[in-house]
Amino acid sequence: MNKLHPVLRCLFFIIFPVVSGYYLIQHGVHASGKAQVALIGGGIILLIIAFIFFLGYLWRCSSCKYWFVAERVKREELGREKGTKIKTLTDKVKNRKGETVRTIEKEVVVQIERIAYRNYMECSHCHFKWTTNSVEEREL
Ligand SMILES: [Zn+2]
Repeated sequence: MNKLHPVLRCLFFIIFPVVSGYYLIQHGVHASGKAQVALIGGGIILLIIAFIFFLGYLWRCSSCKYWFVAERVKREELGREKGTKIKTLTDKVKNRKGETVRTIEKEVVVQIERIAYRNYMECSHCHFKWTTNSVEEREL
């Protein structure tokens, strides 16, 4: 499996389960009884498999090509900036019985802070080192 080209591997383990999982769920919706359970269940399992392989692909090592081997050994803050973001809040209007009669959506502007990081990664298999950048958003 590790000798396969990364793009081909991506195709086999991500695209194939996603497409067939989606297809199974679509058919399951129109099926009845046990067939519905089997088709939708199979579809969901395929989607979960695709998601796990996607994570493995993200945490792969570009040197030895193994999957699930990346480890973040250190994180360094590069800088932070303040900004704003539009967020949708939903309010539920309830009657005396506590049932929701309608929901009101409103958009509010929230203050946020974006923090840029440099991540120092290391492969747990061959100890190859590399860095990645990432940005995290935090509400103030
Ligand atoms: Zn490695």
